[in-house]
Amino acid sequence: MITIKNEAQIEKMRKAGALLHSVLEQLRGAVRPGISTKELDEMAETLIRQAGAIPSFKGYAGFPYSICASVDDQVVHGFANNEPLREGQLLSIDCGCILDGWQSDSALSVLVGNGSKEAKKLIKVTEECFWIGANMARKGNRIGDIGAAVQKHAEDHGYGVIRDLTGHGIGREMHEDPAVPNYGRPGRGVRLEPGMTIAIEPMIAMGTWKIITEADGWTTRTQDRSLASHYEHTVLVTDGEPEILSFPGARIPEALR
Ligand code: MG
Ligand code: MG
Repeated sequence: MITIKNEAQIEKMRKAGALLHSVLEQLRGAVRPGISTKELDEMAETLIRQAGAIPSFKGYAGFPYSICASVDDQVVHGFANNEPLREGQLLSIDCGCILDGWQSDSALSVLVGNGSKEAKKLIKVTEECFWIGANMARKGNRIGDIGAAVQKHAEDHGYGVIRDLTGHGIGREMHEDPAVPNYGRPGRGVRLEPGMTIAIEPMIAMGTWKIITEADGWTTRTQDRSLASHYEHTVLVTDGEPEILSFPGARIPEALR
């Protein structure tokens, strides 16, 4: 069931989104060679709980951590561990929180120290895919318009768009209807209405879109072991400009409209 949020509910989602943005930016600032993803996970949990919120990932279907930490060819749902991160690795951090009963979900990818030109470009194009997709999250458009726009931009760069995992509606629950695939056909799928809140989250690989799940039952990685990047925000469909709830004040870059 797709839920339309009222103004009071949206205001709560704004607050959850603002907190999550601040947490993720602090994690981004802490990423450097030598730090472990376990340390980043503990930092996320502390920051979220200090703000009176709950880390939504921890315990979700048995997931053991407050962040998903996915390195290099890992796409999403990676486990935090004690291994020090190394210069040049590509780290995707996904995090979610619940504040006053309302959810936010957001992810970013960063290089540990300095990385390759190719990895930098993958991260940049994945972020562009998000903005291009978010630009389609407008009243009267359809879910397929978002996916088609994301897919075209990624494939124009020769990248693979992960199919097995999608974005999603979000609100009181982390995963609500509708599914928000990063591929699709324009004009297809659910029609977007003001008050809908969706997580748009391109997962883009340098090579194949095919993924496998590792032995822990959670971590996904690319089948061809190519690098993968992830970028996500919680987005509100409005009468006008889409509002990026997990990135207060952000606007879709002019060049990507
Ligand atoms: Mg997420
Ligand atoms: Mg999500």
